[in-house]
Amino acid sequence: MSSLIAKQNIGETCIICEQNRDRGIHLYTKFICTDCERDMIQTETNDPKYLYYLSKLKKVTTPEIYS
Ligand SMILES: [Zn+2]
Repeated sequence: MSSLIAKQNIGETCIICEQNRDRGIHLYTKFICTDCERDMIQTETNDPKYLYYLSKLKKVTTPEIYS
C-alpha cells in the first residue's frame, strides 16, 4: 500500500513555537521541542519572554474551562 510510504514521521507540534519538531519533551499531553525547552530554562524570570512561556504553559497545566 502506498499509504504506508506516504506516512512519515513529522514529529509533533510544539506548544511554544508551534512548529513541527522531531525532538522534545512531553508535558502532560503537550509537546515542547528541545529548542524551546532550553530557551525556557535560560530565560530569566524578570524577562518578558518568561511570562510568555508561562502563559503558554498555563494552557497545558490548566484545563480550559469556560464558565
Ligand atoms: Zn518549540
